[in-house]
Amino acid sequence: MARKGVAVVAIGGNSLIKDKNHQSVEDQYLAAKETTKHIADMIEDGWDVAIGHGNGPQVGFILRRSEIAAQVEGMHEVPLDVCGADSQGAIGYALQQNLQNELRRRGVKKSVATVVTQVLVDRNDNAFVNPTKPIGSFMEEPEAKRRETEMGWNMVEDSGRGWRRVVASPIPQEVVEIDAVRELIEAGTIVITVGGGGIPVVREANGDIIGTAAVIDKDYASSLLARLINADVFVISTAVEKVALNYGKPDQKWLDKLTVAEAKAYLAEGSHFAKGSMAPKIQAIIWFMENGGKKAIITNPENIGRAMRGETGTLIVP
Ligand code: ADP
Ligand code: MG
Repeated sequence: MARKGVAVVAIGGNSLIKDKNHQSVEDQYLAAKETTKHIADMIEDGWDVAIGHGNGPQVGFILRRSEIAAQVEGMHEVPLDVCGADSQGAIGYALQQNLQNELRRRGVKKSVATVVTQVLVDRNDNAFVNPTKPIGSFMEEPEAKRRETEMGWNMVEDSGRGWRRVVASPIPQEVVEIDAVRELIEAGTIVITVGGGGIPVVREANGDIIGTAAVIDKDYASSLLARLINADVFVISTAVEKVALNYGKPDQKWLDKLTVAEAKAYLAEGSHFAKGSMAPKIQAIIWFMENGGKKAIITNPENIGRAMRGETGTLIVP
C-alpha cells in the first residue's frame, strides 16, 4: 500500500471508558478494541500512525488503590509520576494488543509498540506557582496539613467536601524519547506514545531529568508530538462528531470547517469551547498549525474514517 503520510491520533477518555458503568479493565479493553478498529482502517489506507491517549480516570484508579493499600496494609504509596508510567504501560498494552490482533486479522503486516514516554516541562512554568489540578482522594484537615508539611504537597479545601491535593498542569516542552519515536515511525512501526500527556519530568541543574508531581494535558502533548514529527494530519478523537459554536446552547451550530484564524477568534470569545474539554483541543490544533501543520480533524472514533475522507468531523486548516 502507498504511504499516505504520518498521522497523529490523540484518543480521548471515551475510547477507553464509555461511561461510569463500564470502567473495569475488561470494559476498557473492549472500548480500546472499538477505537483501534477505526485506527486500523487508517493504517490499512496507508497512514503511518502515532497514537496519543488520555489517562485521567486510570491514574485516579491507580492512586486510589495506592491510597487504600497504604491505609489498610501500610503499603508504600505510588508517586504521581510512577502512576503515570503505570497507566502508560497498561493502556499501551490494551491498545497495542488490540491493534496487533486487528491488523493480523486483516493481513496487514505492521508492528505496534508502546513507548514509555517522558515529557519535559519547565520548572519555572507559571502552573507550578499556583497548582490547580485536583488529584487523589479527599481527606481530613489534619492529614492534609501533615502532607503539606512533611511531603510538600499543595492542598486545597474543596467547598466543604474535604481537602484534596492539587498539582500543576504545565505546558509540555520536549518529548524526551522523540528520536526513538521518529525512528520507529520511519521503520513503519505504529507507535503509542505521550500517553496521558507523558510522564512529566524536569531538568535539574546538572542536566539530569527527574519525575515531577504534575499532570500534562494529553491534547497539548499530542500537539507537541505532531509538531515534532511534522505530522501530515493531527486527529483528535473524542466524544463528539463535530465541534460546535455556542455548544449546548439553543443557537448551537456544528462546524464542518474552521481556519486557524477563525479558531483563534472563537477561542478568544471564550463562550464556545468549554475550558478543560474542547478549549485545549482547539489550542492544541492552533499550535500545530502555527508550526507548519496543514490539516487537523476533531471527531469521534466511529467517524475517523469518514472524517479523513472529508465526509464529517470538523476540519481545521491553516
Ligand atoms: P477527551 O477525553 O476526549 O479529552 P473531553 O471531555 O475533555 O474529552 O472533551 C470533549 C468534550 O468537550 C465533548 O464530549 C463535549 O461534551 C465537550 N465540548 C465542550 N465544548 C464543545 C464544543 N464547542 N463543541 C463540541 N464539544 C464540546
Ligand atoms: Mg479532555
